[in-house]
Amino acid sequence: MAAKLLDGKLIRDEILAELRPRVEALALRGRAPGLAVVLVGHDPASELYVRSKEKACAQLGIYSEKHTPPASSTTAELIALVESLNTRPEIDGILVQMPLPPQVDTRALLHAVDHAKDVDGFHPMNVGKLVENQPGARACTPAGVMEILRRYELPVAGKRAVVVGRSDIVGKPMALMLLHANATVTICHSQTSNLAEECQRADILVAALGRPAILGAAHIKPGAVVIDVGINRVDGKVLGDVQAEAAAELASAYTPVPGGVGPLTIAMLMSNTVSAAARRLA
Ligand code: NDP
Repeated sequence: MAAKLLDGKLIRDEILAELRPRVEALALRGRAPGLAVVLVGHDPASELYVRSKEKACAQLGIYSEKHTPPASSTTAELIALVESLNTRPEIDGILVQMPLPPQVDTRALLHAVDHAKDVDGFHPMNVGKLVENQPGARACTPAGVMEILRRYELPVAGKRAVVVGRSDIVGKPMALMLLHANATVTICHSQTSNLAEECQRADILVAALGRPAILGAAHIKPGAVVIDVGINRVDGKVLGDVQAEAAAELASAYTPVPGGVGPLTIAMLMSNTVSAAARRLA
């Protein structure tokens, strides 16, 4: 049977369509949700991501503003900016675009964001809520993966899930979300000694390594659901972490790159922003 292609754009559009009336309802109650984006310096990929985020806000009727401090900014200067945004009542969400210049203490800056306005789910308070499985802002990319699984009605409970990658942004929160959905979860990383063997056991394989097309037929159990989070730019092309042909041949369902997980990240950011506004207005 041919593998089913999991269309991230379709799911994104569904989520955005569901958010629109929530934004309108909040606007009728007083004001639209507000998102402040902090973009330090001129990294071209970050500029592109921020433009997409601003566009998504505009399409939904979410107020957004962009702050562009120079690449030479100090941690103290950036913390002062974030603290000023923390105090602004019309700002519900604060997003600090990564990566930051090397002189900036990324962790200190992320910790400075009011956890009620942390729409990335990176603040330790929200990470703790994820660990406890309590409501709170969730990291956008793994939350998007869970939406794909849920909306395509792919069962998670009781399944063996293998997450390759253990970053704070993708791998770790992904593993926790799958765990809370009652999967039996294994986390692999660069020191895993038998990666192919571990991956072969996965009913759900999530690749979040950032290594172009490194996972292939040897890593995919026939019939597995393969979720490819990787975005790798190679010779002007965007490749995932999984060989697309191997996924198409062996998986029961898989996310393409581009067009799979990628579109969900911004949709989940919008969802976190609307939820933050709703909580603050409650
Ligand atoms: P990081 O570089 O922070 O983490 C990569 C992880 O993969 C690390 O835990 C690392 O292990 C592990 N790893 C690296 N090489 C190997 C290997 N050969 N075998 C096993 N494990 C390995 O990346 P991110 O988590 O930030 O991102 C992962 C990918 O997802 C990237 O391609 C990124 O572009 C993409 N991404 C996509 C998003 C989207 O919207 N779709 C959003 C965010 C990221 P160790 O910890 O031991 O070093």
